Order: sequence, then structure tokens, then C-alpha cells
Amino acid sequence: MIQAALARRTAGTGRAGSRLNSGAGMLAVVMGRSQAERVLRQHVQTDGLLGAEALPRAAAKVDLAKPQAVLKIDRATRIQLLEQLDRDEVRGCTKCELCHSRTQTVFGEGDAEARVLFIGEGPGQNEDEQGRPFVGRAGELLNKQIAAMGLQREQVFIANVVKCRPPNNRAPTPAEVDACSGFLARQIQIIQPEAIITLGAPAAKLVLKTREGITRLRGTWCEYDGLVPDGPVIPVMPTFHPAYLLRAYTPDNRQRVWSDLQQVMQRLGLDGN
Ligand code: URA
Ligand code: SF4
Repeated sequence: MIQAALARRTAGTGRAGSRLNSGAGMLAVVMGRSQAERVLRQHVQTDGLLGAEALPRAAAKVDLAKPQAVLKIDRATRIQLLEQLDRDEVRGCTKCELCHSRTQTVFGEGDAEARVLFIGEGPGQNEDEQGRPFVGRAGELLNKQIAAMGLQREQVFIANVVKCRPPNNRAPTPAEVDACSGFLARQIQIIQPEAIITLGAPAAKLVLKTREGITRLRGTWCEYDGLVPDGPVIPVMPTFHPAYLLRAYTPDNRQRVWSDLQQVMQRLGLDGN
């Protein structure tokens, strides 16, 4: 029953950029096998209630044995998976020291099917107070950047390397980044964005598993390969953090960041060409 439902759901074409290569396996990677089965069972039950005509139509055939075959986790499932991750794992997390100083966790927010995922460093004071990412001064600049790309903030997803505020806005320690990194990996697997924009050094270093500095990295396309083992990669554009840009608001730096964002726009066809 579950297998059949999966086969049906994976038969669709999916949106560009959502390309995964196994059925239950992938859902299990995202959330653990028993949870995967529970979600699928819920879907099968919902389908039964709604009747066959409510099912999405099977479109082009996809050979699931081929690595490029597509698993389309549907929108409702993505939303559900993100909510579960936040509610069941992140909110009560005590995996690192930052749990003691936070007011609340900041999971991230945005469209569960976002084409673009922005990854910052970690919550600051405003974010810690409001429980939302990028709501302070850096957030204002990020909002302008998103708008300049022709997107609305609600259309993208915004997350951070660590979900709890480091005291006095210090950088997260390697141990804290390590403890929290599994949550970001799961967010990426659920959202499956077509492009990731890392903001600042900690996000670039984590996502790209590199020690290279941000000044060298920014402006060049890189790859995130943690989606599924031996699976497709996601293009990554590292750029400066908006808080850094605010501190070093020179015409050169503004031009650099704008050109990084334009490269993403070009790649995703957001530039009208
Ligand atoms: N800076 C970050 O890196 N993340 C936020 O959410 C806010 C500021
Ligand atoms: Fe858990 Fe991440 Fe918060 Fe550390 S920063 S307590 S790992 S949610």
C-alpha cells in the first residue's frame, strides 16, 4: 500500500530542480523510516477520504531505478516535515550549550518549496526575541536584496547555521555548528531548493565543507553534495553576510554582492532572460 502510494507520487514530473533518486528511502533519509511510513500512511488515508479524483495525475514516466529520477515530495508533505522537525526536535533541543542562553529557537521560515534558500549564521538579539530569522537591521538589508532579485520574502526560505543565539552575538563555535548541522541538512533535504545562497563565512564553510575564506569563495558557483548519498548536488552561491555589508558598505562590496545575486537570478531564469 505504502509502496504503491509512493510509486504514484513519484511518477509526476516535479518542478525543475527537485531531483531525487529513491522513494521510501529518500523520505526515510529526511525523517527516519518509521516517521516516513507514518506520513505516507496519513497520505494514503487522506487520499482515500478525498476519493481517487483528488489524486494528482501521473505525468511523464520516471524510471525510479535511474539516479536522475525525480521524487516529488508534495507541498503538503514538505510543510508537514518542516513543522515536525521544528516542533519535535529543534524547539526543545539541548544538543549544545546555546540552549542555555536562548530565549527561543529560530528554525527559519519561508516557502517549503522555495527555489532559493538563504543560509545565515545564527539568530541575533532581535531574532532570539521574535523567534524569526533576519528581522533586525541585517534582515532589512536581506529583504531589500530579495526584492531586488524580483522575489518576495515569502517565496524564499531563510535559515541559519545554528538555531539558537550565541551570547553577545559571538560566532558559533565549531562544536555548536557541528551539533546543529543535522537540522540544516534536513531542512535542505525537505525543501530541495534549486540554489542555495550562503551569507557569510560560517554558512559557506559548513555547506561547502571547506576552510577557504569567504573573500575567495564568494561569487563563484560551488556545490552542496549532502542531499542524498551519491545523489544530485545543489548549486551554491556564497556571498557576504548582510551584517558585514552594513559594516563595510562600500560601492565595491555592494557591487560584489549584487553581482553574486545576479548570477543566481540568471541561473534560475529570474532575470527575465
Ligand atoms: N544574522 C544571521 O546570520 N541570521 C539571522 O537570522 C539574523 C542575523
Ligand atoms: Fe540545539 Fe542547534 Fe540550539 Fe545547539 S544551536 S541547542 S544544536 S538547536
